Amino acid sequence: MTTTRLFRNARLATMDPARNGLGIVEKGAVAAEDGRIAYAGPEADLPSSLAVTASEIIDCEGRWITPGLIDCHTHIVHAGNRAHEFELRLNGATYEEIARAGGGILSTVNATRAASEAELVASALPRLDALIAEGVTTIEVKSGYGLDRENEAKMLRAAARLAAERDVSIVRTCLGAHALPPEFAGDKDAYIEDVCRNQLPFVAKEHLADAVDGFCERIAFSPEQIARVFDAARAHGLPVKLHAEQLSNLGGAALAARYGALSADHLEYLDETGVAAMSKSGTVAVLLPGAFYFLKETQKPPVALLRRAGVPIAIATDCNPGSSPLTSLLLTLNMACTLFALTPDETLLGVTRNAAKALGLQREIGTLEAGKRCDLAIWEIDRPAELAYRIGFNPLWRRVRNGQWQSR
Ligand SMILES: [Zn+2]
Repeated sequence: MTTTRLFRNARLATMDPARNGLGIVEKGAVAAEDGRIAYAGPEADLPSSLAVTASEIIDCEGRWITPGLIDCHTHIVHAGNRAHEFELRLNGATYEEIARAGGGILSTVNATRAASEAELVASALPRLDALIAEGVTTIEVKSGYGLDRENEAKMLRAAARLAAERDVSIVRTCLGAHALPPEFAGDKDAYIEDVCRNQLPFVAKEHLADAVDGFCERIAFSPEQIARVFDAARAHGLPVKLHAEQLSNLGGAALAARYGALSADHLEYLDETGVAAMSKSGTVAVLLPGAFYFLKETQKPPVALLRRAGVPIAIATDCNPGSSPLTSLLLTLNMACTLFALTPDETLLGVTRNAAKALGLQREIGTLEAGKRCDLAIWEIDRPAELAYRIGFNPLWRRVRNGQWQSR
Protein backbone atom coordinates (compact mmCIF):
# COMPACT_ATOMS: atom_id res chain seq x y z
CA MET A 1 0.00 0.00 0.00
CA THR A 2 1.22 3.50 -0.82
CA THR A 3 1.87 5.75 2.14
CA THR A 4 1.64 9.46 1.56
CA ARG A 5 2.92 11.95 4.08
CA LEU A 6 2.18 15.61 3.58
CA PHE A 7 4.29 18.47 4.94
CA ARG A 8 2.15 21.58 4.64
CA ASN A 9 2.16 25.25 5.67
CA ALA A 10 5.90 25.52 4.99
CA ARG A 11 8.29 27.82 3.17
CA LEU A 12 10.42 25.90 0.70
CA ALA A 13 13.97 26.50 -0.51
CA THR A 14 13.63 23.94 -3.31
CA MET A 15 17.09 24.55 -4.90
CA ASP A 16 15.27 23.73 -8.14
CA PRO A 17 17.42 25.11 -11.01
CA ALA A 18 14.23 25.89 -12.96
CA ARG A 19 13.45 28.55 -10.35
CA ASN A 20 15.69 31.53 -9.45
CA GLY A 21 18.21 31.58 -6.59
CA LEU A 22 17.25 29.06 -3.93
CA GLY A 23 13.98 28.31 -5.73
CA ILE A 24 11.89 29.74 -2.93
CA VAL A 25 8.20 28.89 -2.60
CA GLU A 26 6.21 30.71 0.08
CA LYS A 27 3.14 28.85 1.40
CA GLY A 28 4.51 25.57 0.11
CA ALA A 29 3.94 21.89 0.63
CA VAL A 30 5.90 18.69 0.08
CA ALA A 31 4.18 15.34 -0.41
CA ALA A 32 6.17 12.15 0.13
CA GLU A 33 4.98 8.92 -1.42
CA ASP A 34 6.85 5.70 -0.67
CA GLY A 35 10.01 7.60 0.21
CA ARG A 36 10.01 9.80 -2.89
CA ILE A 37 8.89 13.37 -3.39
CA ALA A 38 5.52 13.21 -5.16
CA TYR A 39 5.04 16.97 -5.09
CA ALA A 40 6.97 20.07 -3.96
CA GLY A 41 5.54 23.50 -4.67
CA PRO A 42 2.78 25.95 -3.74
CA GLU A 43 0.25 24.38 -1.38
CA ALA A 44 -2.52 25.93 -3.47
CA ASP A 45 -1.45 23.79 -6.47
CA LEU A 46 -1.16 20.51 -4.52
CA PRO A 47 -3.01 17.80 -6.49
CA SER A 48 -6.12 16.95 -4.51
CA SER A 49 -5.45 13.21 -4.92
CA LEU A 50 -2.33 13.60 -2.74
CA ALA A 51 -4.16 15.66 -0.13
CA VAL A 52 -6.93 13.06 0.06
CA THR A 53 -4.70 9.96 0.33
CA ALA A 54 -2.25 11.40 2.88
CA SER A 55 -1.90 9.04 5.84
CA GLU A 56 -0.26 11.76 7.89
CA ILE A 57 -0.39 15.54 7.57
CA ILE A 58 2.33 17.57 9.28
CA ASP A 59 1.68 21.27 9.83
CA CYS A 60 5.12 22.95 9.58
CA GLU A 61 3.68 26.21 10.99
CA GLY A 62 5.58 28.39 8.54
CA ARG A 63 8.98 26.77 9.10
CA TRP A 64 11.49 26.45 6.25
CA ILE A 65 12.12 23.18 4.41
CA THR A 66 15.38 22.58 2.51
CA PRO A 67 16.62 19.36 0.94
CA GLY A 68 18.45 17.21 3.52
CA LEU A 69 22.02 18.55 3.70
CA ILE A 70 24.88 16.72 1.98
CA ASP A 71 28.48 16.64 3.30
CA CYS A 72 30.29 15.68 0.08
CA HIS A 73 33.89 15.40 1.39
CA THR A 74 34.77 13.75 4.71
CA HIS A 75 37.30 11.42 6.31
CA ILE A 76 35.08 10.65 9.33
CA VAL A 77 36.24 7.00 9.48
CA HIS A 78 39.64 7.01 11.20
CA ALA A 79 41.13 5.93 14.52
CA GLY A 80 42.63 8.16 17.17
CA ASN A 81 42.94 11.92 16.92
CA ARG A 82 45.71 14.48 16.71
CA ALA A 83 44.89 16.67 19.70
CA HIS A 84 48.34 16.00 21.18
CA GLU A 85 49.98 17.23 18.00
CA PHE A 86 47.77 20.35 18.07
CA GLU A 87 48.89 20.93 21.64
CA LEU A 88 52.59 20.43 20.82
CA ARG A 89 52.38 22.85 17.90
CA LEU A 90 50.78 25.55 20.03
CA ASN A 91 53.43 25.00 22.66
CA GLY A 92 56.03 25.89 20.05
CA ALA A 93 57.17 22.50 18.70
CA THR A 94 58.43 22.43 15.10
CA TYR A 95 57.01 20.08 12.46
CA GLU A 96 60.17 18.00 12.75
CA GLU A 97 59.76 17.62 16.50
CA ILE A 98 56.12 16.66 15.98
CA ALA A 99 57.09 14.06 13.37
CA ARG A 100 59.73 12.65 15.75
CA ALA A 101 57.09 12.44 18.49
CA GLY A 102 55.06 10.23 16.13
CA GLY A 103 52.72 12.94 14.85
CA GLY A 104 51.50 13.65 11.34
CA ILE A 105 49.37 11.58 9.00
CA LEU A 106 51.32 8.39 9.74
CA SER A 107 50.10 8.45 13.34
CA THR A 108 46.53 8.25 11.97
CA VAL A 109 47.60 5.50 9.54
CA ASN A 110 49.14 3.46 12.37
CA ALA A 111 46.09 3.91 14.62
CA THR A 112 43.68 3.06 11.78
CA ARG A 113 45.63 -0.06 10.80
CA ALA A 114 45.61 -1.21 14.43
CA ALA A 115 41.84 -0.70 14.82
CA SER A 116 39.23 -3.34 14.01
CA GLU A 117 36.35 -2.60 11.66
CA ALA A 118 33.99 -2.47 14.67
CA GLU A 119 36.30 -0.01 16.46
CA LEU A 120 36.37 2.23 13.38
CA VAL A 121 32.56 2.21 13.25
CA ALA A 122 32.27 2.98 16.97
CA SER A 123 34.70 5.90 16.81
CA ALA A 124 33.05 7.39 13.70
CA LEU A 125 29.49 7.28 15.09
CA PRO A 126 29.74 10.34 17.39
CA ARG A 127 31.09 12.38 14.46
CA LEU A 128 28.31 11.07 12.24
CA ASP A 129 25.72 11.88 14.91
CA ALA A 130 26.97 15.48 15.12
CA LEU A 131 26.42 15.89 11.37
CA ILE A 132 23.03 14.16 11.40
CA ALA A 133 21.87 16.47 14.21
CA GLU A 134 22.31 19.37 11.78
CA GLY A 135 20.01 17.93 9.12
CA VAL A 136 22.63 16.03 7.10
CA THR A 137 21.10 13.08 5.24
CA THR A 138 23.96 12.08 2.86
CA ILE A 139 27.66 11.87 3.75
CA GLU A 140 30.63 10.96 1.60
CA VAL A 141 33.30 8.98 3.46
CA LYS A 142 36.82 8.41 2.16
CA SER A 143 39.32 5.70 2.98
CA GLY A 144 42.98 6.75 2.80
CA TYR A 145 44.44 5.89 6.22
CA GLY A 146 44.79 2.16 5.54
CA LEU A 147 47.13 2.48 2.56
CA ASP A 148 47.15 -1.22 1.77
CA ARG A 149 44.50 -3.48 0.32
CA GLU A 150 43.32 -5.03 3.56
CA ASN A 151 43.14 -1.80 5.57
CA GLU A 152 41.62 0.32 2.80
CA ALA A 153 38.93 -2.36 2.42
CA LYS A 154 38.40 -2.37 6.21
CA MET A 155 37.83 1.40 6.22
CA LEU A 156 35.34 1.18 3.33
CA ARG A 157 33.43 -1.65 5.01
CA ALA A 158 33.30 0.40 8.23
CA ALA A 159 31.88 3.31 6.21
CA ALA A 160 29.16 1.06 4.79
CA ARG A 161 28.24 -0.12 8.28
CA LEU A 162 27.56 3.47 9.35
CA ALA A 163 24.51 3.40 7.06
CA ALA A 164 23.25 0.31 8.88
CA GLU A 165 23.75 1.96 12.28
CA ARG A 166 22.05 5.27 11.44
CA ASP A 167 19.37 6.54 9.07
CA VAL A 168 21.73 8.22 6.61
CA SER A 169 23.08 7.61 3.10
CA ILE A 170 26.81 6.92 2.88
CA VAL A 171 28.76 7.39 -0.35
CA ARG A 172 32.17 5.70 -0.31
CA THR A 173 35.37 6.87 -1.98
CA CYS A 174 38.62 4.92 -2.20
CA LEU A 175 41.54 7.23 -1.39
CA GLY A 176 44.45 4.78 -1.52
CA ALA A 177 46.56 7.50 -3.19
CA HIS A 178 46.38 9.72 -0.09
CA ALA A 179 49.89 9.37 1.38
CA LEU A 180 52.96 7.16 1.12
CA PRO A 181 52.88 4.31 3.67
CA PRO A 182 56.14 3.69 5.59
CA GLU A 183 56.81 0.32 3.93
CA PHE A 184 57.13 2.12 0.56
CA ALA A 185 59.30 4.99 1.90
CA GLY A 186 61.31 6.56 -0.91
CA ASP A 187 59.40 4.80 -3.71
CA LYS A 188 56.15 6.56 -4.57
CA ASP A 189 55.95 4.87 -7.98
CA ALA A 190 56.00 1.44 -6.40
CA TYR A 191 53.20 2.42 -4.05
CA ILE A 192 51.09 3.83 -6.90
CA GLU A 193 51.61 0.47 -8.63
CA ASP A 194 50.20 -1.19 -5.50
CA VAL A 195 47.16 1.11 -5.56
CA CYS A 196 46.49 0.34 -9.25
CA ARG A 197 47.30 -3.38 -9.30
CA ASN A 198 46.35 -4.48 -5.81
CA GLN A 199 43.93 -2.07 -4.11
CA LEU A 200 41.60 -0.77 -6.84
CA PRO A 201 40.85 -4.12 -8.56
CA PHE A 202 39.87 -5.57 -5.17
CA VAL A 203 37.78 -2.54 -4.18
CA ALA A 204 35.99 -2.69 -7.55
CA LYS A 205 35.41 -6.45 -7.43
CA GLU A 206 33.97 -6.29 -3.91
CA HIS A 207 31.89 -3.14 -4.71
CA LEU A 208 33.46 -1.29 -1.80
CA ALA A 209 33.55 2.20 -3.33
CA ASP A 210 31.49 4.54 -5.51
CA ALA A 211 34.47 6.64 -6.65
CA VAL A 212 38.26 6.95 -6.54
CA ASP A 213 40.16 9.93 -5.11
CA GLY A 214 43.81 10.99 -4.79
CA PHE A 215 46.00 13.71 -3.29
CA CYS A 216 47.96 15.62 -5.93
CA GLU A 217 50.63 17.64 -4.12
CA ARG A 218 54.40 17.63 -3.72
CA ILE A 219 54.02 16.09 -0.25
CA ALA A 220 51.79 13.40 -1.82
CA PHE A 221 51.64 12.33 -5.50
CA SER A 222 52.52 13.93 -8.85
CA PRO A 223 50.02 14.51 -11.68
CA GLU A 224 51.66 11.62 -13.59
CA GLN A 225 51.19 9.26 -10.65
CA ILE A 226 47.58 10.40 -10.17
CA ALA A 227 46.93 9.85 -13.90
CA ARG A 228 47.93 6.20 -13.44
CA VAL A 229 45.43 5.88 -10.58
CA PHE A 230 42.71 7.50 -12.72
CA ASP A 231 43.48 5.13 -15.63
CA ALA A 232 43.04 2.19 -13.25
CA ALA A 233 39.79 3.68 -11.88
CA ARG A 234 38.50 4.13 -15.42
CA ALA A 235 39.38 0.53 -16.28
CA HIS A 236 37.14 -0.56 -13.39
CA GLY A 237 34.33 1.83 -14.34
CA LEU A 238 34.74 4.04 -11.25
CA PRO A 239 34.38 7.85 -11.46
CA VAL A 240 37.19 10.00 -10.05
CA LYS A 241 37.74 13.11 -7.93
CA LEU A 242 40.88 14.79 -6.61
CA HIS A 243 42.41 16.73 -3.71
CA ALA A 244 44.04 19.41 -5.89
CA GLU A 245 45.78 22.77 -5.65
CA GLN A 246 45.58 22.91 -1.85
CA LEU A 247 49.17 23.94 -1.10
CA SER A 248 50.58 24.63 -4.58
CA ASN A 249 49.53 24.59 -8.22
CA LEU A 250 50.50 21.35 -9.95
CA GLY A 251 47.64 21.43 -12.49
CA GLY A 252 45.73 18.74 -10.61
CA ALA A 253 42.29 20.23 -11.30
CA ALA A 254 42.92 20.32 -15.07
CA LEU A 255 44.13 16.71 -14.90
CA ALA A 256 40.97 15.73 -12.99
CA ALA A 257 38.84 17.56 -15.55
CA ARG A 258 40.52 15.61 -18.39
CA TYR A 259 39.21 12.46 -16.70
CA GLY A 260 35.72 13.95 -16.37
CA ALA A 261 36.11 14.10 -12.58
CA LEU A 262 33.00 14.56 -10.46
CA SER A 263 34.84 17.14 -8.36
CA ALA A 264 38.17 18.78 -7.63
CA ASP A 265 38.53 19.70 -3.97
CA HIS A 266 40.39 22.39 -1.93
CA LEU A 267 41.57 24.52 -4.93
CA GLU A 268 43.21 27.42 -3.05
CA TYR A 269 45.96 27.63 -5.72
CA LEU A 270 43.68 26.96 -8.71
CA ASP A 271 44.45 29.19 -11.72
CA GLU A 272 42.50 30.34 -14.77
CA THR A 273 43.55 27.34 -16.87
CA GLY A 274 42.28 24.97 -14.20
CA VAL A 275 39.01 26.87 -13.88
CA ALA A 276 38.47 26.74 -17.66
CA ALA A 277 39.14 22.99 -17.72
CA MET A 278 36.68 22.39 -14.86
CA SER A 279 34.04 24.52 -16.54
CA LYS A 280 34.36 22.51 -19.76
CA SER A 281 34.10 19.13 -18.03
CA GLY A 282 31.33 20.09 -15.58
CA THR A 283 33.58 19.24 -12.62
CA VAL A 284 32.31 20.63 -9.29
CA ALA A 285 34.63 22.83 -7.20
CA VAL A 286 34.43 21.58 -3.59
CA LEU A 287 35.71 24.25 -1.20
CA LEU A 288 36.85 23.22 2.28
CA PRO A 289 37.06 26.26 4.56
CA GLY A 290 37.66 24.12 7.67
CA ALA A 291 41.12 23.05 6.47
CA PHE A 292 41.92 26.60 5.32
CA TYR A 293 41.00 27.86 8.79
CA PHE A 294 42.72 25.15 10.81
CA LEU A 295 45.98 25.41 8.85
CA LYS A 296 45.80 29.23 8.99
CA GLU A 297 46.22 29.43 5.22
CA THR A 298 46.17 32.81 3.48
CA GLN A 299 45.76 31.86 -0.19
CA LYS A 300 42.02 31.80 -0.96
CA PRO A 301 40.34 29.79 -3.73
CA PRO A 302 39.54 31.90 -6.84
CA VAL A 303 35.83 32.28 -6.15
CA ALA A 304 35.35 35.15 -8.64
CA LEU A 305 36.89 33.09 -11.46
CA LEU A 306 34.76 30.06 -10.59
CA ARG A 307 31.61 32.22 -10.61
CA ARG A 308 32.47 33.84 -13.92
CA ALA A 309 33.11 30.46 -15.53
CA GLY A 310 29.89 29.01 -14.10
CA VAL A 311 31.67 26.20 -12.24
CA PRO A 312 29.26 24.76 -9.62
CA ILE A 313 30.61 25.31 -6.10
CA ALA A 314 30.06 22.88 -3.23
CA ILE A 315 31.10 23.17 0.42
CA ALA A 316 32.10 20.36 2.80
CA THR A 317 33.58 19.80 6.26
CA ASP A 318 36.60 17.73 5.11
CA CYS A 319 36.25 16.25 8.62
CA ASN A 320 39.66 14.66 9.31
CA PRO A 321 41.94 14.39 12.34
CA GLY A 322 44.93 16.29 10.92
CA SER A 323 43.79 19.44 9.15
CA SER A 324 40.02 19.83 9.71
CA PRO A 325 38.64 18.25 12.89
CA LEU A 326 35.27 19.76 12.01
CA THR A 327 31.91 18.03 12.45
CA SER A 328 29.56 20.95 11.84
CA LEU A 329 28.29 21.58 8.32
CA LEU A 330 26.43 24.68 9.55
CA LEU A 331 29.67 26.19 10.88
CA THR A 332 31.24 25.31 7.52
CA LEU A 333 28.59 27.48 5.81
CA ASN A 334 29.53 30.39 8.03
CA MET A 335 33.26 29.85 7.36
CA ALA A 336 32.67 29.77 3.59
CA CYS A 337 30.96 33.17 3.87
CA THR A 338 33.42 34.81 6.25
CA LEU A 339 36.67 33.30 4.89
CA PHE A 340 35.92 32.88 1.15
CA ALA A 341 33.22 35.59 0.75
CA LEU A 342 30.66 33.21 -0.72
CA THR A 343 27.08 34.46 -0.45
CA PRO A 344 24.74 32.59 1.93
CA ASP A 345 22.78 31.38 -1.13
CA GLU A 346 25.97 29.98 -2.68
CA THR A 347 26.81 28.09 0.49
CA LEU A 348 23.30 26.62 0.73
CA LEU A 349 23.41 25.46 -2.90
CA GLY A 350 26.87 24.11 -2.00
CA VAL A 351 25.51 21.66 0.58
CA THR A 352 22.46 20.64 -1.46
CA ARG A 353 22.22 20.77 -5.27
CA ASN A 354 25.94 21.19 -6.03
CA ALA A 355 27.03 18.72 -3.35
CA ALA A 356 24.73 16.14 -4.97
CA LYS A 357 26.44 16.79 -8.30
CA ALA A 358 29.88 16.41 -6.66
CA LEU A 359 28.77 12.87 -5.75
CA GLY A 360 27.17 12.13 -9.13
CA LEU A 361 23.78 11.94 -7.39
CA GLN A 362 22.11 14.99 -8.92
CA ARG A 363 19.22 12.92 -10.26
CA GLU A 364 18.57 11.38 -6.85
CA ILE A 365 19.01 14.08 -4.17
CA GLY A 366 19.90 17.74 -3.60
CA THR A 367 16.68 19.54 -4.61
CA LEU A 368 13.00 19.40 -3.71
CA GLU A 369 11.66 18.06 -7.00
CA ALA A 370 9.12 15.34 -7.75
CA GLY A 371 10.76 11.96 -8.22
CA LYS A 372 13.74 12.60 -5.97
CA ARG A 373 14.33 10.89 -2.64
CA CYS A 374 12.33 12.63 0.08
CA ASP A 375 15.23 13.68 2.32
CA LEU A 376 14.35 16.95 4.05
CA ALA A 377 15.61 19.29 6.75
CA ILE A 378 13.01 21.48 8.46
CA TRP A 379 14.30 24.59 10.19
CA GLU A 380 13.20 27.10 12.86
CA ILE A 381 14.47 30.13 10.94
CA ASP A 382 13.05 33.31 9.42
CA ARG A 383 15.18 33.24 6.27
CA PRO A 384 17.61 30.73 4.72
CA ALA A 385 20.65 33.02 5.21
CA GLU A 386 20.27 32.43 8.96
CA LEU A 387 21.76 28.96 8.46
CA ALA A 388 25.05 30.53 7.32
CA TYR A 389 24.86 33.52 9.65
CA ARG A 390 24.86 31.92 13.08
CA ILE A 391 27.99 30.50 14.71
CA GLY A 392 27.58 27.40 16.85
CA PHE A 393 23.78 27.34 16.81
CA ASN A 394 21.57 24.60 15.42
CA PRO A 395 18.03 25.61 14.39
CA LEU A 396 17.04 22.18 13.00
CA TRP A 397 13.43 21.32 13.86
CA ARG A 398 13.13 17.90 12.23
CA ARG A 399 14.89 15.70 9.71
CA VAL A 400 13.05 13.55 7.17
CA ARG A 401 14.69 10.53 5.51
CA ASN A 402 13.04 8.66 2.63
CA GLY A 403 9.83 10.43 3.59
CA GLN A 404 10.10 9.09 7.16
CA TRP A 405 9.64 11.52 9.97
CA GLN A 406 12.68 11.28 12.28
CA SER A 407 11.78 11.69 15.91
CA ARG A 408 14.30 13.57 17.97
ZN1 LIG B 1 40.14 15.64 2.25
